[in-house]
Amino acid sequence: MTDSTSIALVTGGNSGIGKCVAELLARDGCNVAVLDHERTEQSGCVLDRIQSIGQEACHLKADVRKDHEVRAAVATLLDRWGQIDILVNCAGIVRDQVIWKMNDDQWRDVIDVDLTGVFQCCRAVAPTMRTAKSGSIVNISSINGMRGKFGQTNYSAAKAGVIGLTKALARELARCNVTVNAVAPGLIETPILDGMSEEALSAAVAEILLGRPGQVEDVGELVSFLCSDRARFITGEVIRVDGGQYI
Ligand code: NAP
Repeated sequence: MTDSTSIALVTGGNSGIGKCVAELLARDGCNVAVLDHERTEQSGCVLDRIQSIGQEACHLKADVRKDHEVRAAVATLLDRWGQIDILVNCAGIVRDQVIWKMNDDQWRDVIDVDLTGVFQCCRAVAPTMRTAKSGSIVNISSINGMRGKFGQTNYSAAKAGVIGLTKALARELARCNVTVNAVAPGLIETPILDGMSEEALSAAVAEILLGRPGQVEDVGELVSFLCSDRARFITGEVIRVDGGQYI
């Protein structure tokens, strides 16, 4: 699926894993649309990087929590490039708190971005992939959606939901030759870790067999593979990239 004419849509592409995925898909020969809720200086850097690789790039401003914005962004992209071959759902947030102190906003914000956002992006893109009878969707989950994490009932629930969504959608889209997979990273060095205490960070690193946090490329290269023709017989999978943190 990743050839010189493939079109990729990457949510949360301004930062961290999404930014890396956007650049690697450009390297793979895709034209890349980066969807994020803000157009920032960072978005400009990502677009410049994609263009310097020799691919076309565009920024789509949309909050994945808002269905009308997601639909409008997808319509804009289809008007511009006519197809969407790859969707990678990277947009995500954390609002950590133990459940007895977690307020409604902390619960809802994480469910809305990390789970409902994935649902809305998949729903908006599915029709064009069904018509094309081709496509790849990769959803970024987390090992904490598989094992649960102290202080993350909201995030663990959302990321577990992404795994269920991925497997169900793989069944629904398989007849249209669309693959749907989830990647479950462990601790990866990105801005999402900025709010973590030194103590929590050290405890997480101590769990990792390889003894260090992952880099965005460790996740990005797997996503690149799953979006390529080399992975055309892989669907409904959840693949961990965690340096052995989960086992
Ligand atoms: P990041 O650098 O903070 O990237 C998250 C991206 O999502 C940012 O570009 C952010 O935009 C965007 N975003 C947030 N809310 C949004 C919304 N409502 N609508 C559209 N875009 C929104 O974090 P990251 O680590 O790369 O995270 C990428 C994915 O990997 C997330 O789903 C995360 O849960 C998952 N993950 C990360 C780790 C890790 O250790 N880093 C581990 C497991 C899973 P702004 O920056 O403008 O807010």
